[in-house]
Amino acid sequence: MNQLLIIGSIAYDSIITPFGRADKALGGSATYFSLAASLFAPTMAIGVVGDDFKHLRVLKKRGIDTSGIDVKKGKTFHWTGKYHFDLNTRDTLKTSLGVFEHFKPRLNEPHRNCQYVFLGNIHPRLQLDVLKQIKRPKLVGLDTMNFWIEQARPDLLKVIKQIDLLVINDSEARELSKENNLVKAARKILAMMSRRSHGVGIPTKTSGGKFKNPTLIIKQGEHGLLMFHRNMIFNLPGYPLENVVDPTGAGDSFAGALMGFLAKTDVFTPTILKKACAMASTVASFTVEKFGVTKLSEIKVADVKKRLKNYQKLAKF
Ligand code: AMP
Repeated sequence: MNQLLIIGSIAYDSIITPFGRADKALGGSATYFSLAASLFAPTMAIGVVGDDFKHLRVLKKRGIDTSGIDVKKGKTFHWTGKYHFDLNTRDTLKTSLGVFEHFKPRLNEPHRNCQYVFLGNIHPRLQLDVLKQIKRPKLVGLDTMNFWIEQARPDLLKVIKQIDLLVINDSEARELSKENNLVKAARKILAMMSRRSHGVGIPTKTSGGKFKNPTLIIKQGEHGLLMFHRNMIFNLPGYPLENVVDPTGAGDSFAGALMGFLAKTDVFTPTILKKACAMASTVASFTVEKFGVTKLSEIKVADVKKRLKNYQKLAKF
């Protein structure tokens, strides 16, 4: 079975929504990502925590390899965010980097041999540094945020050229492309992406089954997603939930389940990519039903498959 490597933040999150709050709950992009990915494929996480961190067992319980998580003297990264009434937008109230400030990713031999890699939302220079250490990447995904698009654009453009799959939200796509229209934005971003393929992907007639073209997924929160690959545009609605408690980590759970599903199937046809998107949206829909990682760490693949059946009915006509 293919292994999947994720690098990102491991955090304590303090979250305020109009309907409740959580203080210092387990969070971080690598946490959500690996909990979601491990539903489908063996997952290894790279990150750093302080000696105040008490939650490694949550990851270990799901079989996640935590040998790449450094424990340093000091405080774990702490993020505080407040959601607006519609739960679609949020403000960052405070970011305390703690040990994350001097994070130097430490990859061992099994990490370097991993072929499925996801570069979570961290400084693009660190993303490049990790990618350089991977021996034979097959599929490399990446997430980023407005902060890096504004503050580290040259490094970000460099790493984006070397990946196969970019997963960002609509405001990030607009900012990255400097285009308001998402279809135009996608065309520009695809042009910025992969010149150097990693050997897999949607087989084309001329490529002999090798990956030749990058894939871009633009997340639109509760409204679903748009996926772009060459001339294909795929539009998936969001799963209509009645009970949304905390949207934190929805994007990371989506990316985790997507990469986990692709690592498991090891096939990259348009049909599989669409299926992976549906599976990933379904996993993300569970995440937001409780604060932090509570719901995500409870669910099993059978729960996901059951909801996926209802999801399929929604847009069939
Ligand atoms: P999402 O809701 O999918 O965008 O992810 C939210 C997660 O990102 C939270 O658990 C935060 O701990 C983490 N996070 C917030 N800000 C940053 C940052 N500047 N760098 C890395 N991770 C962050």
